[in-house]
Amino acid sequence: MSERTGILLVVSGPSGSGKTTLCRRLAGEKAAHYSISCTTREPRPGEIADQDYHFVSPAEFRARLDAGDFLEHAQVHGNFYGTLRSEVMGYLEAGTDVVMDIDVQGAAQVRACVEPAIQRARVDLFVMPPGEQELHARLVGRGTDSAAIIALRMQNARDEIQHWPSYAYRLVSATHEEDYARIKALLTTEQLRVSRLR
Ligand code: 5GP
Repeated sequence: MSERTGILLVVSGPSGSGKTTLCRRLAGEKAAHYSISCTTREPRPGEIADQDYHFVSPAEFRARLDAGDFLEHAQVHGNFYGTLRSEVMGYLEAGTDVVMDIDVQGAAQVRACVEPAIQRARVDLFVMPPGEQELHARLVGRGTDSAAIIALRMQNARDEIQHWPSYAYRLVSATHEEDYARIKALLTTEQLRVSRLR
């Protein structure tokens, strides 16, 4: 048994901010468990079921919602997304840190959650793209979305960026290595919190 309970690192930011890559790398280097979300959106080419997302039908999503399986959920870009309690609670109790890549609505729900285990664990970080032009260039560079989708993502990014003051931490994206060093430093600092000692 670990001497402390786990950290719940909630990471938000517009698509193209690099947040997913940062979160995935933390998991890849065994620094945290990556909470795999449920979504009703179609898998993109190259995405692997139950590794990138649990891809579910709208009916299955609704059934899990009604069963109380989600810690938070939201509608993003016309699809439903939700975090399963089973991806979070047991890990925190065991002292394993969990990283969640979720939108600003989901982060607000986690922030409002009154459960002591969540309150004790939660830390939130907003990853900010360096600027509009750079964000646009990154989205085009990914080569995964049409011009119309990119325009939608740019508008969503502007809307999401309004929410950064609600977060405890904000990171303005630079290079991936710099960003990763900073997110690792945040996790290391949070591991020192006395309030999570058993
Ligand atoms: P994408 O479809 O591009 O993978 O993700 C779209 C957005 O949904 C991203 O901002 C991502 O952070 C967010 N998202 C992914 N999983 C969840 C989740 O479980 N809950 C919420 N609220 N947002 C999520």
